[in-house]
Amino acid sequence: MSDKAPSYAILWASQTGNAEWIAKAIHKEAQSRGFTGECFVMNEFELVSFAIANLDKTGVLIFVTSNTGDGDPPDNSSKFWRYLRRQKQKDYLAHAKITVLGLGDTNYTNFNNSAKRLEKKVKELGATVFYEKGMADDAEGLENIVDPWIANLWPVLAEICRQKVSEGDQTAEITKGVSEVEISPMTAAEKAAQEPYSMNERRSTIPEAVTPYIGLPNSLVQGAKINGDSKPAAPLSHKIHVDTTALANATQLTGLPRVPAAYIKLVKVEKNAEKPITDKLPRFVYTPNPIIEATVSKVSCISRRGALKRTLHLELDLGEHTDFQPGDAFGVIAPNDEDLVQAIMTRLGIKTAEEEMQQFSVEGDDLPSHLKHASGVTLIDLFRYGFDLTTAPRKALLRMLGEYTSDAQEKNLLMFLCSKQGLAQFNSLRDQQPTLLDLLVSFPSCNPPIERLLDTLPAHMPRYYSIANSPLAHPRAIRFAFNIVQYTTPEPYNVARKGVATTWLDNLTGLVEAATSGDNTAAVIEIPVSQRISVPIFFKINNNGFVLPADTTKPLLLIGPGTGIAPFIGFLEHRDKQRQIRRSLGGVGAFPDRDLAAEFGEIRVYYGFRERSKDYLFDAELTEFVDRGVITHLELAVSRESENKVYVQDLIRRDQKDLYDFIVNKGALIYVCGDAKGMATGVHDALANMLVENEQLEKMEAMKTLTKWIAEKKYLRDLV
Ligand code: NAP
Repeated sequence: MSDKAPSYAILWASQTGNAEWIAKAIHKEAQSRGFTGECFVMNEFELVSFAIANLDKTGVLIFVTSNTGDGDPPDNSSKFWRYLRRQKQKDYLAHAKITVLGLGDTNYTNFNNSAKRLEKKVKELGATVFYEKGMADDAEGLENIVDPWIANLWPVLAEICRQKVSEGDQTAEITKGVSEVEISPMTAAEKAAQEPYSMNERRSTIPEAVTPYIGLPNSLVQGAKINGDSKPAAPLSHKIHVDTTALANATQLTGLPRVPAAYIKLVKVEKNAEKPITDKLPRFVYTPNPIIEATVSKVSCISRRGALKRTLHLELDLGEHTDFQPGDAFGVIAPNDEDLVQAIMTRLGIKTAEEEMQQFSVEGDDLPSHLKHASGVTLIDLFRYGFDLTTAPRKALLRMLGEYTSDAQEKNLLMFLCSKQGLAQFNSLRDQQPTLLDLLVSFPSCNPPIERLLDTLPAHMPRYYSIANSPLAHPRAIRFAFNIVQYTTPEPYNVARKGVATTWLDNLTGLVEAATSGDNTAAVIEIPVSQRISVPIFFKINNNGFVLPADTTKPLLLIGPGTGIAPFIGFLEHRDKQRQIRRSLGGVGAFPDRDLAAEFGEIRVYYGFRERSKDYLFDAELTEFVDRGVITHLELAVSRESENKVYVQDLIRRDQKDLYDFIVNKGALIYVCGDAKGMATGVHDALANMLVENEQLEKMEAMKTLTKWIAEKKYLRDLV
C-alpha cells in the first residue's frame, strides 16, 4: 500500500456481484494508472467513514451501486443508508467530490432509483459532483454505458488529482482473412462430434453429490442411470452464432476493454488424508445468515396439465423451530447443473477424479466476496458453487478468453465481440445466452487457465423465494411455490434454456406430474424421512418490512398475480390461525364472526392467472379462506378466458372508488407481490389513477402520494 493519503474511495453495493466486480475492476485499473485509493462495500461503514475522513484534499468518492426489486438499494448498503440518514451535519461531505455509477434495468419503473437517490442524498450532505453519473441499463447491456463511463473517468480523475493520465482506449489489429469466419449453428455431424461434452466421456460412477437423490419415487436421477444409456441425450452445448459482416468491413477494432487484471491464485493444498466431503455444501459458500440443511418433506405440482408454466409447491422440514414470519424470503443454494459442470471440466482438461478432488486455496488481494472463504476447495466444488456458468458473458470474459485463444481467427472474433465495431453482435450474443460451455465449444482453441476464470466469471448466486405458510400452522416447516424456469432464446437462435435452481429442485423431487384440469386438488407426494432430500437454505434479512402488521385490526389489500400469491397464502394462513386462537380463548359472544370482524381487519385479495382450469394456484386454499371469513373480498383477474385480457390492475381501476375508501378512509395497507417489470407498473398506475379520480389530483401529485406511502410502509412491495 502507498504511504500517500488516498485520493479516492470507491464504495460499492451489489446484489448479484456485478457492481462488486465492476467497482473492483475500476479500483484495480485506477491503481495500475498510478492513482492511490481504496475500495469498500458500503456496509463496512466504519471503514467507509474512516476512509472518507482520511482522504487527501482531493476527496474523490466513486459510488457503484446496483438495484434490487424496483429500484431499491442492495442489501449490503442498508447500514450505509442508515448511516447517511443519521448525518445531521449539512456539510458532512462538503469536502467530497463524487460520482455515481448505477446498474439498473429500464424494464423496471424506477430505473436506477438507488443510484439517483444516493447522488441526491450525498449532495444534500454537501458533496459536489465531479463527473456526471452513469446510468447503465441491463436491458441494453450494462457494458454499453459502463465501459465508456469508465474510459472517460480517467482524464477527469487525472485532472482533479493533478496526475498524468496513462493511455486509455485499447485497440486490436485484425488478422487478414478473418471476415470469412462465421460461427454458425451446429450441423448434426458437429453435434455428434460434440458428444465428449455430453454423456459419453463422463465417468462411470454417480457423483457423490447426487447419490442422496437416488431411489426417490420418479426421481430423474433414478431413471437417468448416470453411467447408463436411458437418459435422452439433450444437447448440452450450442455453438454461438456471430454475423461477421461488420468485422469484414473494419480495418481496426477499437474500444476493447482492458484484459481483466490477473489477481487470483489457486494454491495447491497438501492432500488431506481425509476424503474431501462432496455430498455436503462446501464451506466456502458464503451466506448472510447461517445455512440450514432443510429436507424436502412434501412436493406437489399445483399447476394443471396444459398450463403455460409448471408450478411446484414444496414443503421443507427445518428440523427445529426457527423464527420466521410469512412474507420472509429465504435463499436456496442450488449447485450448477452437474452435467454442465462435468462437461466444462472435461473441456478444460480436468478429467480424472483425482484432479477434480485436488484441494486448493484461492488466494489474492481483495478477493471477491464469493471466494473470500475458499480455502481447501476442490475444483469440482468451485464449478458447482463458485461460478455462474449460465449468465450471458461480460465483455471482460470474452477479452480474457481472447488472450488464451491460439487460433488467430477465433481470437479475432472474440476481440470483435468486445469491440465498438462488434457491439450489435455482442448484443445478439446476449440474446443467445451462451453458457461457458457454449463459448468453449465455439472457440475450440481457447484454453483459459482456471485462475483466469476465477478472475472474470460472475458469482454463483442463491435464488430467493417467499415463505408461503405460517409458523402458527407449521412451526418447523416452510412452504414455497415457484414456476420451473424454462424458455427458448429468441428467433433465429431458438435454443432451449433452463433455470438453475428451479430445474435442480424439479429434478431432485422427481419431476412430479401435473394433475389434469378435471382434478380438484393436486396430489401431494410425502417423502418418507429415510429418503429425505437435503436442500441448503438460509433466511434472508427482511429489509422491506413485507410482513403482516402486528395490529390485526388493520385492513389489508393484497395484490399478487401468478406465484406472487405465494406469500399471501402465508399471510392468510397466519390470520386464519390467529382467528382460531382468538376464538378458542372465548368471549366472542353469540355472534363470533361478527365479533371477530371487529378484531381482525378486512382482507381484500386481487389475484390473477390465465385459465381457471390450468393455473388457478391455491384455489382450494383461497376458497376456504373466503368461506371462513379470513378473506372478505376475493377478486380474480383471469387473463385468457375472454377476448380481452383482464389483469389485476384492470380490476383495481374498476373498483377504484371503493378501494379509495378502503385505502384512504379505512386505512388499509397495500401489499403487491410479483413481477416488477409489467404488473407492478400497471398496479402503480392504477393506484395513481385512483387518487387522481378521487382527489382530483394531477398525476404527478398522485405519484408523490404513492412515493410517500412507500416510505411510510403503507404501500409495501415484494418485486422481482
Ligand atoms: P405468470 O404466471 O407469468 O402470470 C400470472 C398472471 O399475470 C397471468 O394471468 C398473466 O397474464 C398476468 N400478467 C402478465 N403480464 C401482466 C401485467 N403486465 N400486469 C398484470 N398481470 C400480468 O406470473 P408468474 O411468473 O408466476 O409471476 C410472478 C412473479 O412473482 C415472478 O416474477 C416471480 O419471480 C415473482 N415472485 C415470486 C415469489 C415466489 O415465492 N415464488 C415471490 C415473490 C415474487 P398473461 O400471461 O395472459 O398476459
